[in-house]
Amino acid sequence: MTIEFSLTKRQEELRGMIRSFAKNVIRPQSLAWDRAHGIPEDFLMRFTQMAAAAGGSAGAWGIQGLGASADESAPKPDAADKKKKSAMVNTVIAAEELATGDPALLLCLPGPGLGGPPVRGSGTPEQKERFFSIFRDMSAGLKWGAYALTEPGAGSDVAGIRTSCRKDGKAWVLDGRKCFITNGARASWNVVFATIDPALGRAGHRAFVVEKGTPGFSVGKIEDKMGLRASETAELVFDECRVPEENLLGGEERYQTKEGFMTAMKTFDNTRPLVAAMAIGIGRAAYEYARDFVKENYVLSRPIPRYAAIAERLARVGRELAAARITTWRAAWLADQEVANAKEASMAKAAGGQAAIRACFEAIEICGAHGTIAEEHQLLEKWFRDIKVYDIFEGTGQIQRIVISKRLMPDLKSF
Ligand SMILES: Cc1cc2nc3c(=O)[nH]c(=O)nc-3n(C[C@H](O)[C@H](O)[C@H](O)COP(=O)(O)OP(=O)(O)OC[C@H]3O[C@@H](n4cnc5c(N)ncnc54)[C@H](O)[C@@H]3O)c2cc1C
Repeated sequence: MTIEFSLTKRQEELRGMIRSFAKNVIRPQSLAWDRAHGIPEDFLMRFTQMAAAAGGSAGAWGIQGLGASADESAPKPDAADKKKKSAMVNTVIAAEELATGDPALLLCLPGPGLGGPPVRGSGTPEQKERFFSIFRDMSAGLKWGAYALTEPGAGSDVAGIRTSCRKDGKAWVLDGRKCFITNGARASWNVVFATIDPALGRAGHRAFVVEKGTPGFSVGKIEDKMGLRASETAELVFDECRVPEENLLGGEERYQTKEGFMTAMKTFDNTRPLVAAMAIGIGRAAYEYARDFVKENYVLSRPIPRYAAIAERLARVGRELAAARITTWRAAWLADQEVANAKEASMAKAAGGQAAIRACFEAIEICGAHGTIAEEHQLLEKWFRDIKVYDIFEGTGQIQRIVISKRLMPDLKSF
């Protein structure tokens, strides 16, 4: 067995390129995007084109949208990537770098987004072609996909969704509400989870691709959030919404088992490492900011013991981020090898979120009173607002710890 931690020359080069772009191009615009509650489409278009031109494996580098590595429409990895099976590892490396510039950018990028993995994993060949083909031609404008599972009464408890679906002739009729859906309003289609009967629990779940303009489907409010303000988070309303039967993901046979629920959960095995990597990117940005602040403001003017105490705190943050990164790379590597990684994906997300929250918290404290003054340290303040959601979406920290415990102690039922 080989344990390999080094990046290939090509990975190093691309990481360097993304790092420099994040620092010099993305970060200087990030506060303006935050204030404007969005990223201009012409920037998204230029960025996506640039990424696609950067070596022919932009998809493998995850810079065509969160979940893009699972997108059939993304450019195929080049021969080296294929041989090494490193698309997911590449994606998490890129995600960390981009998040140091602006984490919302990753969520705003056009592409199938979180909707990609369920269509890829559960869709029929016809559905994959139909729903992914719209992302191939950017001359028709930017396009997004989205993933709608959460409801006002069902967040962590995904088995408890209440959005109903019933068959009526050649259509399914959906009724209910989804909330906090990333890109849900702008999406050309949403993968929507509904139930034929809540009493059936997971076995009652069905997943549909609901296209924009479907009768009975409308967008409710767009959330005004504390952090990640440049990313759109929408409420979706289904009122006697008639979805053609051919949009039932995977077709009827698939739902003789609990596949509907598995479709929802399998998405996270791919995306939790990505979310962890983004969190680590934000945490690293805050850590480096505080480190530079200490270098410039403390070394020569403060007594050594105080500096040492601060250095120890920074060292702890750096250590935790490094440990979370290795955990994240491992979860991504397992996904690349097509090995089950649910436990490791949860470990990565739990570790990444916590390490990054601590990094942002410590960075503000280390900068002292200055750190609390938004005008002076606007980026620190923004990262502090942005980071919290990384311990919430795609399963909260508590839920990750439950997933891990269940996998570590499968015989103990009472969680
Ligand atoms: C910016 C943003 C974007 C999002 N994007 C999407 C999206 O694209 N698609 C989508 O479907 N959803 C999305 N979500 C929703 C997100 O996945 C949920 O918010 C998350 O799953 C938590 O659900 P909840 O908010 O209902 O919290 P709850 O489930 O109500 O949890 C509240 C608290 O209770 C804790 N808790 C809950 N159950 C347990 C338990 N069994 N044991 C211990 N503690 C528990 C939680 O950890 C949490 O601290 C997004 C959310 C945000 C904020």
